[in-house]
Amino acid sequence: MAEHLFTPGPVTTAPDVLLAGASPMMSHRSPRFSALLKRLQNRLRDLMNVDGPVLLLPGSGTGALEALAMNLVAPDDKVLSLSCGVFGERFREIVGRRGATVAAVDVEPGKAVDVATFRKALADHRETTVLLLTHNETSTGVTNDIEALLAELPEEGRPLVLVDAVSSLGAMDCRPQDWGVDGLASASQKGLVTPPGVALLWLSPQAWEKSRSVPSASYYFDVGLHRRSLEREAPENPYTPPVGLLLSLDAALSAMAEIGLDLRFAQRKRFAKALAAGAAALGLVPFVEERAARSSGVTALSVPEGRAVDLQRALRKLGIEAAGGQKELKGQILRLAHYGDERWPELALVLGGLYGAMREIGLDGGRDFIEAAFEGWKE
Ligand code: PLP
Repeated sequence: MAEHLFTPGPVTTAPDVLLAGASPMMSHRSPRFSALLKRLQNRLRDLMNVDGPVLLLPGSGTGALEALAMNLVAPDDKVLSLSCGVFGERFREIVGRRGATVAAVDVEPGKAVDVATFRKALADHRETTVLLLTHNETSTGVTNDIEALLAELPEEGRPLVLVDAVSSLGAMDCRPQDWGVDGLASASQKGLVTPPGVALLWLSPQAWEKSRSVPSASYYFDVGLHRRSLEREAPENPYTPPVGLLLSLDAALSAMAEIGLDLRFAQRKRFAKALAAGAAALGLVPFVEERAARSSGVTALSVPEGRAVDLQRALRKLGIEAAGGQKELKGQILRLAHYGDERWPELALVLGGLYGAMREIGLDGGRDFIEAAFEGWKE
C-alpha cells in the first residue's frame, strides 16, 4: 500500500523534483554546475528577500545549526537561548559545545515566545552577545513571530541573532534580512519540499564580519571557505556537493516561484486552519491554543487519554504516516505536517484516516468533522 506521508520531514515530494535529482551526474567542477549554483543563489535570495550568498552545505538541519555555532560563536560569548521545545533545546546544546556560557529561558510547550517574555529575558541578561531563537518549533507546532521579537532589540549593543529556520523556510514568510536576523539555518526536507541532505545558511554583513574574527571550529563547515568558493567567477563548492539533491532543490524552488510565494504561504495556512477545525470536531484539540502561533507547516493535536502512540500506529495500518510527540509529549500529541502541496483531497484523506484510526483504538470521535473542516477551509 502506498504510504501517505504527513511527517515533518521528509515530506511528500513532487515527481518532477525527484526526477530532477535522478538526472545524469555532472562534474561539480564544470560550467553546468556553476550555472546551477548561480541559479540556486538567485532563487534562494528571492525566497528570503536577502542580499549576499546563501551557503549550500551537505547535511541536514542539525548540520546547518552546527555550522552557525562553529563559525559565529566564540568561547567568550554570552549566549541567551529562548526555547519553546525540543529544537530550541538542541540549538542551545550545540552552541554550548563551543564553550560559551548559555543562559536558558524556556516557555511552556505549545506556547510561542511572547514579547513580554522576550523583553524580560533581555533585561535579565544584558550582557548577551549572541541570541538564539527558533522560527518554527516543530516539536509543538508553534511559530514564533521573529519580526515582532527582533523589533524589541536595542540599536546599540545588539547581540548577534541566530535563528533556526529549519522547519519554516519555504512554507511561510521568512525574511531574515528584513527582520534583523544575523544567521539563519535551514534544510531541504521540510518547507523546501526536497529530499533531505542539503543544509542552508544565510549570514548578515555583521555575521560575516564576526566570522572573520572567530576562527572556524569546523574544517568542513568553514563558512569563509564556502563563501570564497561560491564567489569565484565560476562558483563551486570546496568539497564534493550532493549534486542530485541540488538539482532537486532547483526544481522545487522553480515550482514554488511559479505558484508564487504569497499564494504558497496562504495555501499552507489555509490547510492548517481547516485541519485544526476538522481535528477539533473529531475530539483532537489543537495543542497550540493561540491561533496566531499555530504553524502553517505542522499541526500538533492533543490525543485524549494519552493514546497518541496507539493512534499513530492505527494510522500507519491505514497507510498514513504521522509523527508522535517528543520527550515529555510522547503519547500526548500527534503531529501532522503539511509542507507540500496538500489541498482539500489530502485534508479529507487525513481526517478520514484519523476518524478510522480513532474508531479502531476505541476513541470516540465526532462525526461532523468534514463539515467543520469545510468551514475552516472557507477563505
Ligand atoms: N530544527 C528544527 C526546527 C527542526 O524541525 C529539525 C528537524 O525536525 C531540526 C532542527 C533538525 O533537523 P535535521 O533532522 O534535519 O537535522
